Formats: sequence, C-alpha cells, structure tokens
Amino acid sequence: MQITINNLIKRYDEAEKPAVDDISLHIESGEFFFLLGPSGCGKTTLLRLIAGLIHPTSGSIAFDGEDVTEREVDQRGAAMVFQGYALWPHMTVQENVEFGPRMRGADKSERHRIASEQLQRVEMDTFADRKPNQLSGGQQQRVALARALAAGTRCLLFDEPLSNLDARLRLHMRDELKALVDATGVTGIYVTHDQKEALSMADRIAVINDGRIAQLGTPTEVYRNPQSRFVADFLGEANFLDGDLDSGSEVVTTPAGNVPVASELTGRVTCCVRPESVRVEAGNSPGGLAATVVSTVYLGDSRQTVCRLETPDAIEWRVTELPGAGEALAPGTPVSLTFSAGDVAVLDQ
Ligand code: ADP
Ligand code: MG
Repeated sequence: MQITINNLIKRYDEAEKPAVDDISLHIESGEFFFLLGPSGCGKTTLLRLIAGLIHPTSGSIAFDGEDVTEREVDQRGAAMVFQGYALWPHMTVQENVEFGPRMRGADKSERHRIASEQLQRVEMDTFADRKPNQLSGGQQQRVALARALAAGTRCLLFDEPLSNLDARLRLHMRDELKALVDATGVTGIYVTHDQKEALSMADRIAVINDGRIAQLGTPTEVYRNPQSRFVADFLGEANFLDGDLDSGSEVVTTPAGNVPVASELTGRVTCCVRPESVRVEAGNSPGGLAATVVSTVYLGDSRQTVCRLETPDAIEWRVTELPGAGEALAPGTPVSLTFSAGDVAVLDQ
C-alpha cells in the first residue's frame, strides 16, 4: 500500500506550536520507512495520525490514492503492532489469527486458509494449536503480526517496539523484525529515536525535528550527506569546520588548511566529516589539516583520537581508527588529518 501525506498539521493546543508541522511525504508500497528524531519531535503523533487514532488539524492522508483522512481506525487497513498487542489468552494461535477473517464473515474453510497462510509467512504454522502463554515474547510478536495481516492490514505501524529490550536482544530483534517485515511484503512505518536502529533497518528515513522533516533519504544518503548540522549530529558523530568556498573551486579555505570538496555551493559553508573517514598521521603531510593530538581512547573494536585543529577557536575533531592502525599517538604530537572530497558533506550556512 502506498501512503501519501499532504501538508499534515496536528495542533493539540491552540497556544502551542503544532506537534506535526506541515509534513508532506510519499511512502512506496512495500517500503520499510523510518521516522527518526529526538524525543518530543512529533514521531508518535505522525504515526497515530496515519493509523487514524487521532485526526489532523489540517492536511490529508491517502492510502493507494484514496483519501482516508476522515476514516476511523478500523476502516483504514493500517495497524499498530507490538503495542498492546496482547493475544487473547483463551484462544489458540490459530483462533487468534482467524479472529479478523471471522469478523469479516469468512466461512470456516476460508478463515482457516487465510490464517494458515499468514502463520506460514511468519514461520509460526507449527505452533497453531498452542495458547499464547506457551510461546516466547518473540513468538507472540510473530503471531500478533500474522493476526494483523489476516485481519487485512496492509500497513504495519511500529512505535519504538524494541525500546524496552536489553541491548543484546535488541540487536537480535532488529534483524528478525526486518526479515519479518520484508517477508510480509507489506508497507511498514517504524518510529525510533535510535539512529543505529534506523540506519540498519530502513529502506528510507525521514529525520524529524520540531514537527518537520529535516531530511529524507536512504540510510547512506542521510548519514553520508547530511544537509544540516542537526541531521549530521543526530545520525552519529560528526566533525565540523567553517570556511569559504569560491565558485568553481574544489577546496574550502579554512584557518586549519584547505578542505577538498565536491560541491555546487559557494560562500560561507560548514564542512562536515565523519570520524571514521579521517586518517591521522604524525607530521605535516601536504593537503592535510594541521592539528595536535589531545587524547586517545581505546574502545576495544576501535580507537578514538581527539585532535585540536590549528584554528583560532581550537576546534576539536574526532578520528576513529580500526584495530591494527598502529601505535596510539601521544598527546601533544603534531599531526595531519586527511580525507577525500567524497567524505566531506558541505552544509550551507
Ligand atoms: P515523539 O513521539 O517524537 O516523542 P510526540 O508525537 O509524542 O513526540 O509529541 C510531540 C509533541 O506533542 C510533544 O511536545 C508532546 O508533548 C505533544 N503531545 C503529544 N501528545 C499529546 C497530547 N495527547 N496532548 C497534548 N500534547 C501532546
Ligand atoms: Mg513517541
């Protein structure tokens, strides 16, 4: 199912600014789409608007081209899953999944067929005769998914479904959930404030800030080509350096040296480089930024070196190196920081 959202605004309180502030976007059928942003930015509100649990102040929502803005939650074919998903404890797995088709008036053999098909899809068909309390949490989630699909859900909505799990289980469930949603073939919309979750699972991400879309793109696009400091910071660690870019020039002139870039922008700009894209070498290599080592931290799977650039405001940059990168550099060592133009996101100021 395709979802088209036009100029959607949700204002809970006349006196406050809207929780969702003029959002427009198009989600393709079968896409696993993420809403990523800090707490309070309006993610849950947007998801609830799509579900039909609340209604917008203005704007519209269409499913497969059909306006559903005024439709109630049970007439939309979009369902929140894994939240209050409690399966009926007195019913078997099969009966739980047959419930939706039964409500629609499907006869015995028809609802059996639909339920079996959906249970196979989530690989729970061999558990059809169990009661929910005989299943693990993950298995119950699979059944909840099958139940939603059997009930005719064409869009699955997830609101931070993994946030209560411990770190190890959360990592495992990321893979499992992604595989599951991909296997169903339906459209999925997933809300999270965890950038790693979004980067690792999403087809596309809308980064939300203050009720608006700050940037929309694939995980690689938003991570490697942030268009604002907010997006650069929110998606991971980022180093910044201001400078000037002349028209047609392939370098940004900064107090710490020239930064190689490939950008159409001109004038005052901010260069943004991820810590893992920077190489640090002792001495002054031509074309590198001059800096001094401040500290190094061993992190097991990597090493982080903090360097102070030779700029009037002594900006600090972080460099992440993989194991085997050689000896750590002592604090005070003069170094040169190098990276390629393709690793620099140029932000307008
Ligand atoms: P997120 O899910 O990104 O943390 P929410 O959509 O829950 O953000 O909230 C966005 C803003 O709307 C916040 O300022 C929040 O306080 C406000 N808000 C959310 N729900 C309600 C509500 N039912 N009534 C009034 N204000 C609300
Ligand atoms: Mg929320």
